[in-house]
Amino acid sequence: MSVLVFADSSEGKFKKTALEVVSYGKKVAEQLGTNVVALTINASDSSELYTYGAEKVVSVSNDALQTFNAKQYAAVITEVAKAQNATVVVVDSSTDGLYLAPIIAVNLEAGCVSNVVDVPSSTSPFTVKRKTFSNKAFSNTVISTEHKVIVVAKNSYGVHENVVTGSTETFEATIVESGVKSEKIERVTGKVTIADAEIVVSAGRGLKGPENWGMVEELASVLGAATACSKPVSDLGWRPHAEHVGQTGKPVASNLYIAIGISGAIQHLAGINASKVKVVINTDPEAPFFKAADYGIVGDAFEVVPKLIEKLKAF
Ligand code: FAD
Repeated sequence: MSVLVFADSSEGKFKKTALEVVSYGKKVAEQLGTNVVALTINASDSSELYTYGAEKVVSVSNDALQTFNAKQYAAVITEVAKAQNATVVVVDSSTDGLYLAPIIAVNLEAGCVSNVVDVPSSTSPFTVKRKTFSNKAFSNTVISTEHKVIVVAKNSYGVHENVVTGSTETFEATIVESGVKSEKIERVTGKVTIADAEIVVSAGRGLKGPENWGMVEELASVLGAATACSKPVSDLGWRPHAEHVGQTGKPVASNLYIAIGISGAIQHLAGINASKVKVVINTDPEAPFFKAADYGIVGDAFEVVPKLIEKLKAF
């Protein structure tokens, strides 16, 4: 028996979420009295995973897996799970992870729980805590199947060093014909994505128009942050839809979320309340966002943001 975690990588480097799922998998393996096995696909060097508890790394390299394809990746993860006799499979909550989990669960006839925020409170029955109702409540869910698939909510368990002497073995995966007719047309690099960002700078309709996003981009660049926006902003075409956060957009679980000219409607807050520290800049002291904020600045974004950039640059 083992716990298998999929340590996702981009251009050969592990994402922070990969280190989080390895840390999580290590703890679950300890609870079950077994080992954690980390699976990597086309990662150049897996030894970093030993630092977070992976005693064993199974490394799959194959040109057919250069582009993410949920069906193919899930087939590889399933094959490795069977080869490693894994009863628990752990993936992260990125878009890819959310695609993979149900397919792996079907392949393994496993119970699948997403949005999981902690290691099992009990392994018999196997009980995990998950966020529910747009992250406003928690529920304890029992997985009663022999195999279990867990999707760990980003930034919930955290990355924990746990240095072990690990070893890596290569695995020749069977490549299935996916039948999916998709083609990668562009890969955007160099920009921090909302999913990976420690800091997100987000702006709303208070910015009046797309021509005013220069200061948002600049603040994000100074902080090494990702940019995001409210729904109306993407609906109006001021910003790409990929930046829209909230109930109907992307969820954000950053350490710092800066909201500029966003009123704080419930549908927006639903997507960002997993963020740790929220800073709000708004001219209206009655804006609902202030109730959810850790720090609030009542002021005009066109005055506050340039001053903030100036101070941060001098820092
Ligand atoms: P507004 O509500 O217009 O607020 C603009 C804010 O900017 C105001 O608070 C104002 O005081 C402030 N402001 C104005 N000028 C300045 C200035 N110079 N400096 C600083 N502040 C200023 N919304 C989402 O964001 N995400 C979702 O996923 C989402 N899903 C939805 C799903 C449904 C089914 C529905 C019905 C709605 C959804 N919405 C969503 C829309 C949501 O209800 C709000 O309408 C939206 O979030 C408001 O966007 P906003 O705060 O940018 O704009």
